Amino acid sequence: MELKDLYRDVILDHNRQPRNFGPLEGPNAQAEGHNPLCGDRLSLFLRLSGDRVEDVSFEGSGCAISTASASMMTEAIKGKDRAMIGRLFSKVHSLLTQADAAPAPELGKLAALSGVREFPMRVKCATLCWHTLNAALEQKTSTVSTE
Ligand code: ZN
Repeated sequence: MELKDLYRDVILDHNRQPRNFGPLEGPNAQAEGHNPLCGDRLSLFLRLSGDRVEDVSFEGSGCAISTASASMMTEAIKGKDRAMIGRLFSKVHSLLTQADAAPAPELGKLAALSGVREFPMRVKCATLCWHTLNAALEQKTSTVSTE
């Protein structure tokens, strides 16, 4: 099986059966995302413990790319702290925007998004969940300060 087909199957699988989809018990940060170019809408819920994402879920409706991207992102960030999430996002961003970027090993399944860069219009579909995540993380910082 070609890598391209494998990537497509990962995207289709996450679109059909999104992981961490639905309400979250006791979220303490959340944000809404909207991509008007495609019509993707996303609500992201986080349960943060200090600097770490203890649990995460999302709801909403969008195209296959946006749904699969959000699903894979929730799997990738669960249990990670802000610094690790920031590094992961910059790797995803390079993957989506740099023509020859080879997927960094720590991207894992997120490497499946590399095919999206052949369709510049869809890059925003794939990054919507990450921008929404950043908004949720910032909201938390601005409202709660224990340090
Ligand atoms: Zn979309």
